[in-house]
Amino acid sequence: MSDPSATRSLPLEFDLPVHGGFAPAGIGETFPEDTPDADELEIAGEPGQDPVAAFRRTLGMFATGVTVITTQDHDQVHGMTANAFMSVSLRPPLIVISVDRRAKMHALLNEGRRYGISVLADEQRALSDRFAGRTAESPEEVEFELVHETPLVRGALAHLVARVVRSYWGGDHSLFVGQVEYARYGEGQPLLFHGGRYEHLLERAPVFSSLPPAILEAITAQGEERTFETGDPVVRAGEPGDELFVILEGSADVMRGGTRLATFGVGEFFGEIAVLDGRPRSADVTATSALRVLAISRDLLQAAMEREPRAAWAMLEVLAGRLRDD
Ligand code: FAD
Repeated sequence: MSDPSATRSLPLEFDLPVHGGFAPAGIGETFPEDTPDADELEIAGEPGQDPVAAFRRTLGMFATGVTVITTQDHDQVHGMTANAFMSVSLRPPLIVISVDRRAKMHALLNEGRRYGISVLADEQRALSDRFAGRTAESPEEVEFELVHETPLVRGALAHLVARVVRSYWGGDHSLFVGQVEYARYGEGQPLLFHGGRYEHLLERAPVFSSLPPAILEAITAQGEERTFETGDPVVRAGEPGDELFVILEGSADVMRGGTRLATFGVGEFFGEIAVLDGRPRSADVTATSALRVLAISRDLLQAAMEREPRAAWAMLEVLAGRLRDD
């Protein structure tokens, strides 16, 4: 439990007058009678299709992440899955969410109320279903941490706490602009949503570590051991991706453009995709402690596959599994 800025007052720049020269006149003043009638919507495509369903499908083509919006009402924590989340402004830090007027969450949010955003990681799909009311119970109890008196879902990829500063009519939804008071991000793969289904990034999905141990042994048997000191570069972005590595001792950071993408530890592989497609490396990998790795060259890998056709088949199975969505 933490509340790092509970006593900190907000900078003056948050005190924005809506029509004081910051926002154009008329913004936030759209009322139902000014909006187009649903019948005026032209849906291109199959004649006779349900226009609402077609509109929904059109919107669903926009790929998003998945968040859980949370808020606390007295002792009760309430959560709701939402992908209608957007960044609005960096200075001042503002975000917006769009909440169905029929949702319980809608009744809980009002100006001055805080809400939390937990950006779900790929492995948190069950939580998304749970907070969307799709499953009665997820296998494990949901764990929350409290920051700025606001519950956040543990294990999420990023967290934000915001206070509602404006709310706008948005048809059957309402828009809640939140002034961000707390933000943190971690590492990992995001859960994605597109076309009404969950998706995931294929980049950095493990390949070799998913192979059966006997096959892995056959592949790594001829590898060459190398050692690095803390801070040594192991590979650099742009270099040919002609070797696969597995960490035997120590740890290493994967960095791209100054941002740490991941930290690898003992038993973890890196360079998995580059060694297969032969393209240049897309990130730097730097030792974060005394590091011992096993390097397996592309040629060795190819020879191992030729000697052991089961390995090639197992690899295809792993790759096919990556392309599946369930
Ligand atoms: P309920 O339907 O009562 O609760 C939601 C679920 O969360 C229930 O199963 C409840 O048991 C569980 N829950 C709530 N609090 C807790 C807790 N403390 N501990 C454990 N479980 C708890 N709707 C929108 O309005 N905007 C969106 O942007 C949006 N995006 C979505 C994106 C996706 C990918 C999905 C799947 C759904 C989305 N929805 C969105 C739909 C929305 O998630 C559901 O309609 C949801 O049921 C509305 O929640 P509610 O506030 O009405 O509460």
